Amino acid sequence: MKTGKCIVLSAPSGSGKTTIAKYLLAQENLNLAFSVSATSRPPRGQEVDGKDYYFLSEAAFKAKITEGAFTEYEEVYPGMFYGTLKSELDRIWALDKNVLFDIDVIGGLNIKNQFPKNTLSIFIKLPSTEALAERLRQRDTDSSDKIAMRLEKANFEMVRANAFDVVVVNDNLETAISETVEHISNFLTR
Ligand code: 5GP
Repeated sequence: MKTGKCIVLSAPSGSGKTTIAKYLLAQENLNLAFSVSATSRPPRGQEVDGKDYYFLSEAAFKAKITEGAFTEYEEVYPGMFYGTLKSELDRIWALDKNVLFDIDVIGGLNIKNQFPKNTLSIFIKLPSTEALAERLRQRDTDSSDKIAMRLEKANFEMVRANAFDVVVVNDNLETAISETVEHISNFLTR
């Protein structure tokens, strides 16, 4: 199977990476397709199965682990599994597209390790933990204990930013987007 290029976008939850990912996917010249992850967490808000995630029961997720169906997977929060299916990458590369990953820091570094030459890993961060806490509260999709859990994970992830090829600070969304586009364009054309 032919392997194309991979763009990994990782960031603490609430840093704006999903907004940036949506923008990138709309740029036809970048030729990106979104890697839909599998997860055992229930759908949130307007999320659609097969578009935002492949929503699986915990048992179905574990069966796929046993089959060796994942390129990478992780128990991101206790009892909540997330992973990239090998079949998803094959599907996108067969379309001659580059894969865009919106995954967590450990998963992102895992992809970089598996496809080192073909991957550009990008870490998006907010200027401060206070700014992140405020964003998560405004988003208002999670209970306060879930927000606390996401903040704890964010602190763990921030210290791994330096392991990424590039770090983009999302102080201003437009600037963060144009910086990200520039990094990706340079990587895809080199
Ligand atoms: P959320 O529940 O907010 O959609 O995602 C929680 C975390 O899991 C986020 O940091 C998200 O990027 C990460 N995530 C989503 N898909 C994957 C995946 O396929 N693998 C890994 N390792 N993490 C993922």
